[in-house]
Amino acid sequence: MTATTSDIDKAAIDEAAIDEAAGVLRAGGLVALPTETVYGLGANAEDATAVARVFETKGRPPTHPLIVHIGGAEQLGDWAEDVPASARLLAEHFWPGPLTLVLRRGRRVPLEATGGLETVALRVPDHPVARALLAAFGGGIAAPSANRFGSVSPTTADHVRAELGDAVDVVLDGGPCGVGVESTIVDATSDTLSILRPGGVTREDLEAVLGHPLAVPETSRVRVPGQHPSHYAPRARVVLVEPDEVVAEAERAQRLGHRVGVFLPPAFTDTPVEAHAVAAVPASTAAYARELYGFLRELDQRGCDLIIASVPAEEGLGLAIANRLRRAAGPRPATPEAADAAPDRETSAS
Ligand code: AMP
Ligand code: MG
Repeated sequence: MTATTSDIDKAAIDEAAIDEAAGVLRAGGLVALPTETVYGLGANAEDATAVARVFETKGRPPTHPLIVHIGGAEQLGDWAEDVPASARLLAEHFWPGPLTLVLRRGRRVPLEATGGLETVALRVPDHPVARALLAAFGGGIAAPSANRFGSVSPTTADHVRAELGDAVDVVLDGGPCGVGVESTIVDATSDTLSILRPGGVTREDLEAVLGHPLAVPETSRVRVPGQHPSHYAPRARVVLVEPDEVVAEAERAQRLGHRVGVFLPPAFTDTPVEAHAVAAVPASTAAYARELYGFLRELDQRGCDLIIASVPAEEGLGLAIANRLRRAAGPRPATPEAADAAPDRETSAS
């Protein structure tokens, strides 16, 4: 059984560890923290030197903006300016939760945290450990996912330790992440809101609250800084095919000498398949989102060089899962510098 964030109640929070981590943030250090989406690599958002360490540790180009995590919707005005009514409405409905709002940058936020943009991405995470840390620290925590640039986001503390190890001052363990994919990012810098990245809050839920449809960019045409096509990629090459072609395609590649990992779609989990490793995709998209990055890591660890998968229907959480799979299958820049120079950087979200 997979634990979810709700399994970790207040009683399970180690107050001493939280206080220590808050002290590390105040001293300019880095704290890996659990959120309901993925684990974050956190620094004091107002400390430009600490924020620079986040970029160095991840190997992330400094032009890729970070999400600033704050304690509550009532703090919005401290971190952003000219917050539109529609953004306040979404914050009230979905915070704490997996929704990030891009707004006009408040003066508290250094340009280092926003990749030089005049906009800032803000979110209130819904994880008891993250909330306890934000309360003890009192400020904002700038935190991208706690993985090396371009690789798969961590959804357990072990993933963080395996990938970043000693580069982080403290790793807070809050169990496996309950949502498992990153937050939904909404551009709220004007009154016409749009989705920049699908994630843990569904488009349908956002539209129900707003009362009107929201634009969602095609994965291939997303032009947000830090959203180049090969984000979220495992080492193995990912190839996407139709669900009813997954088994035949996997067996064909295996016969050709590949070490094939298969994402077996729910309708085919009883079908025998000749492959190196098999991940049975859960029928529920919530369960699939929770397991997705763990599956990619596991197939990498088992030595697969090729992963054959299909995208789920692009509704509900399926939209975020499909987006991550497409990016995992996308073309890969050779270096972070090449990624930084990629065309997706040309247009900022503002
Ligand atoms: P992560 O890649 O997990 O670190 O999530 C951070 C992502 O949030 C970045 O890669 C951007 O795509 C997005 N983001 C953060 N700040 C901004 C901003 N000011 N404008 C547009 N997108 C942003
Ligand atoms: Mg990331």
